Amino acid sequence: MYLQGKHALVTGGGTGIGLAIARALVAEGAQVTITGRRLSVLEEVAEDGMHPLAMDVTDEAAVREVTAQAVAARGPVQICVANAGIAEGRKLHKTSGEFWRRIMATNLDGCFYTVRESLQSMLGTDWGRVIAISSIAGIKGSAGAGAYAASKHGVIGMMRSFGEDFIGQPYTFNSICPGYVDTPIVERNTASIAERTGASAEEARDVMVNVNRHKRLIKPEEIAAAAMWLCNPLCESVNGTEVHIGGGQF
Ligand code: NDP
Repeated sequence: MYLQGKHALVTGGGTGIGLAIARALVAEGAQVTITGRRLSVLEEVAEDGMHPLAMDVTDEAAVREVTAQAVAARGPVQICVANAGIAEGRKLHKTSGEFWRRIMATNLDGCFYTVRESLQSMLGTDWGRVIAISSIAGIKGSAGAGAYAASKHGVIGMMRSFGEDFIGQPYTFNSICPGYVDTPIVERNTASIAERTGASAEEARDVMVNVNRHKRLIKPEEIAAAAMWLCNPLCESVNGTEVHIGGGQF
């Protein structure tokens, strides 16, 4: 229970990777504020130690207000997990400005607002961890997903830079870069591939399974294990870098 009494904020904490991380944090004694746009989803999964709050990460004022509300209820945010994200692909010539902005607003602006507002309280404490969920698409090009890959590259640049800003202080800033993980994002991709190509659901899912070189989807708990490692008191020298969990992709 090495996180007993610590307050963690997990955006997108009601589903998939965020939920797995929230559960792992609670198991180590943290009080976890879970956020997302759909309060009903958060309320449905919340267990003891999880505190649901509706928050749209694209809305700067909402991130400021909801984070302040969480801090007032449970104390300074000492673990910030900027996980909320959307994954949609378009080839360059089909990428409208509106589509580009929507991806950036969620994946990049949302991560920035979340981390900045969490730091308001974290910096008054003597220990903090910031973890952003980037992607393998944050370290290499991704066919048909330029906006998504750009947003996830941006997340990595942000964490590396924040790590520099606070070097020598008791806070760390790192990204986790997953390959395909078995979450609602993959379910939605499966449906979309099947619809576009006429493939069966199994064939469509295999498109993603086969991109992971170990030929299986990664479990959300595998990502949570990495997040927990980054929260370990002995992990303070891991800062401004990325943990790759790509099933052999890099
Ligand atoms: P999910 O769709 O389950 O999770 C995304 C979460 O983000 C949801 O809980 C969603 O809640 C929340 N969210 C989306 N938009 C917003 C918004 N504007 N404001 C607040 N919350 C929002 O999929 P994953 O768990 O897979 O995704 C989590 C992260 O992992 C994402 O950043 C994704 O890019 C990344 N990732 C996922 C991979 C995968 O293969 N699954 C691979 C690599 C990275 P709600 O809709 O209620 O707002």
